[in-house]
Amino acid sequence: MLSIVAPVYNEEASLPELIRRCLAVGHQQGERFELVLVDDGSADQSAKLITEAAGSHPDVVIGVLLGRNCGQHAALMAGLAESRGDVVVTIDADLQNPPEEIPKLLALSRQGYDVVGSVRLNRQDSLFRRLMSRMINAAVRRSTGVMMHDYGCMLRAYDRDVVNALLQCRERSTFIPVLANGFASRTAEVEVAHARRDSGDSKYSLWKLINLQFDLLTTMTTAPLRLLSVVGALLAIAGLGGGLLLMVMRLSYGADWAANGVLTVLAIVLVFMGLQFIALGLLGEYIGRIFNDVRERPRYVKSRVVGRRDPVGTAAQQATAALARVPAAPGLHDTATPRKAG
Ligand code: UDP
Ligand code: MG
Repeated sequence: MLSIVAPVYNEEASLPELIRRCLAVGHQQGERFELVLVDDGSADQSAKLITEAAGSHPDVVIGVLLGRNCGQHAALMAGLAESRGDVVVTIDADLQNPPEEIPKLLALSRQGYDVVGSVRLNRQDSLFRRLMSRMINAAVRRSTGVMMHDYGCMLRAYDRDVVNALLQCRERSTFIPVLANGFASRTAEVEVAHARRDSGDSKYSLWKLINLQFDLLTTMTTAPLRLLSVVGALLAIAGLGGGLLLMVMRLSYGADWAANGVLTVLAIVLVFMGLQFIALGLLGEYIGRIFNDVRERPRYVKSRVVGRRDPVGTAAQQATAALARVPAAPGLHDTATPRKAG
């Protein structure tokens, strides 16, 4: 079964066309499918349109109506929780990603890729957005080790195992494509067309965008906390080194050389600043571990038991058992890639 999940926030202008085109694509697939539309507390007619569509296509169009605006990724999570497909495709509701590209993703997904991403061909966004995306994509590539070129494009296909793993994460601020890659074993990318936004404005103001970047960073890694210790150690070493150098020079060239004690004060200040940073870094190490614990991300996905003659329970029960949560690993860098934990 295929699920298409779209978060909707004040998209009344594009909704009817989105529903029409997604239904057309879904019916072409020749397998069971559902379209899950999550209304993210829209102020316009979106919720009404979704309810109407769900009424006229029961069990095919499913509406999830959130009480208030919770953000794109929270809405997506709500949609993933409601979805029942073996493969789940996420898509934006503004028709910037044409639903007609979905079969391309499905083809790869059927070949066994558990996350299929997409790269927007000649992206129709502002230069500022494009530059920001490029920087972020490079950072994510480095930190998750998963080679993908476009993390900002929400047209993606996820295998049910990956979706289940996503749903088990207890964290509130997530950036789904990055989080999902942490659970993927085989990933692929396809190139998809990208259209200009025809109706309405981008739902991301500058502040929301900045917030999203921090969500992305914290989803990915707790390394910045460790950076504090590194900065501290460097400052303290500079202070100590400078202090020693001063002492040697002072003994060989006399009091004039050391600017009558000003440099000595500087060295002492540097050492203390360094110590403070190291202390902050130490706190950071604890916070990072607490952070990992409260997120309760599953440690592993998809495990199969071989060698039992009498397997207990159904395959589904076994899958759930395999996904059972265990306390998060203490490593600070295991965040988005649990397979590398420890
Ligand atoms: N969206 C949402 N809640 C929000 C902001 C956005 O559900 O708080 C949805 C929006 O309706 C759209 C998708 O997320 O379907 C992407 O939003 P948008 O097109 O504004 O982002 P951009 O394309 O500018 O990155
Ligand atoms: Mg958009």
